[in-house]
Amino acid sequence: MLEQSNELAAWDRDHFFHPSTHMGMHARGEMPNRVMAGGEGATIWDTNGKKSLDAFAGLYCVNVGYGRQKIADAIAEQARNLAYYHAYVGHGTEASIRLSKMIIDRAPKGMSRVYYGLSGSDANETNIKLIWYYNNVLGRPEKKKIISRWRGYHGSGVMTGSLTGLAGFHNAFDLPRAPILHTEAPYYYRREDRSLSEEQFAQYCADQLEKLIVAQGPETIAAFIGEPVLGTGGIVPPPKGYWGKIQAVLKKYDILLVADEVVTGFGRLSSMFGSDHYGIQPDLITIAKGLTSAYAPLSGVIVGDKVWKVLVEGSDKLGPIGHGWTYSAHPICAAAGVANLELIDELDLVKNAGETGAYFRKGLTDAVAGHKNVGDVRGEGMLAAVEFVEDKDDRKFFDAAKKIGPQVAAALATSGVIGRAMPQGDILGFAPPLCLTREEADTVVAKTVEAVKAVLG
Ligand code: PMP
Repeated sequence: MLEQSNELAAWDRDHFFHPSTHMGMHARGEMPNRVMAGGEGATIWDTNGKKSLDAFAGLYCVNVGYGRQKIADAIAEQARNLAYYHAYVGHGTEASIRLSKMIIDRAPKGMSRVYYGLSGSDANETNIKLIWYYNNVLGRPEKKKIISRWRGYHGSGVMTGSLTGLAGFHNAFDLPRAPILHTEAPYYYRREDRSLSEEQFAQYCADQLEKLIVAQGPETIAAFIGEPVLGTGGIVPPPKGYWGKIQAVLKKYDILLVADEVVTGFGRLSSMFGSDHYGIQPDLITIAKGLTSAYAPLSGVIVGDKVWKVLVEGSDKLGPIGHGWTYSAHPICAAAGVANLELIDELDLVKNAGETGAYFRKGLTDAVAGHKNVGDVRGEGMLAAVEFVEDKDDRKFFDAAKKIGPQVAAALATSGVIGRAMPQGDILGFAPPLCLTREEADTVVAKTVEAVKAVLG
């Protein structure tokens, strides 16, 4: 077993180009290359038999937890019956049709159709193209710019990487590209004017958005995209009233709203969709991750009635839409999606995300908020974050070279709990599976306290 592990580790270093990984350190064996082998519920284990409580659900995606037989069976049955057929020119499978109905039944009001992809990134590429197509059909070819937020995360493609508002995803790739623009992040803890209330800061964000729109010319702005809660940018719930104020500005200038619900969709915030949670009425919704709980790769764009009507008009003028992926609505992935959504209902996981999520966040807050280097503890539903600062009073960042966030995450991992050092700032993030129990929540909190103490005293 050990020999096999060593051999695997060598092949890994020599041949596997890992995403979001320091290439040199990995190739030189200067970082752990953990080989994962199995999982059940919120627990995963590696080939050495070391178990971890995965309090980040993979990459906030294994929402129903690991090892669900029902989904494995659905995948196997679909693979045996019909592993693949395309969805072009009106083709489908029972799984892809059923899944579409299930998604629309669960989606916010006014949603009409689902276009499938395989990743959150490709779904947002679809969004961008649909937005451009929409305005071309409406005869306003100049209305093409898309506004996202600093600290937003929308993917790693050329255009979706541009939508993303994090330096690490731009630098050295010549991003962002036109016609993508960025506006203020709704990051209340880091507001410049500390005298502002949450509502006032929400108004400030809406005012900043309006200023950008007016400066650019409203006739050039097609859409605004945002995650209901900023995810990769630091797990930042919006300040009170934010979405209402943003939507008022968008309405005023006839700008489409895309809710990127790749993380927040299917229960994570304790509502089926984050849009319902915050009273957002989007024109388009991006979904992925929780759609299949990552048992198979599947994403989608949920298209609202208003956009759908124009798309139909477009095809009557221009013919079939020139946008298709080979694997769109892949039957195996769709079968995983159907079983996954059934499981979310059967296990009442949306409710558990609310109840155990609130219990977990309260426990975390009570345990670490008083620490001298904890500036902020925040979250919503089954999402939480702890932000570390050198000085609590002036919210001073630690020197980035000290890598405080990664150090705390590493100490936590050593103790058998997986959290995530978020990519910008010293922020430790949690996004456990929605099936987390109170006992598991207690463990995450206790181990976090120890990890913070080990790194910061
Ligand atoms: N949108 C959001 C909000 C995300 O969090 C992510 C991935 N973390 C994406 C889009 C991109 O999804 P993928 O990695 O599947 O391309």
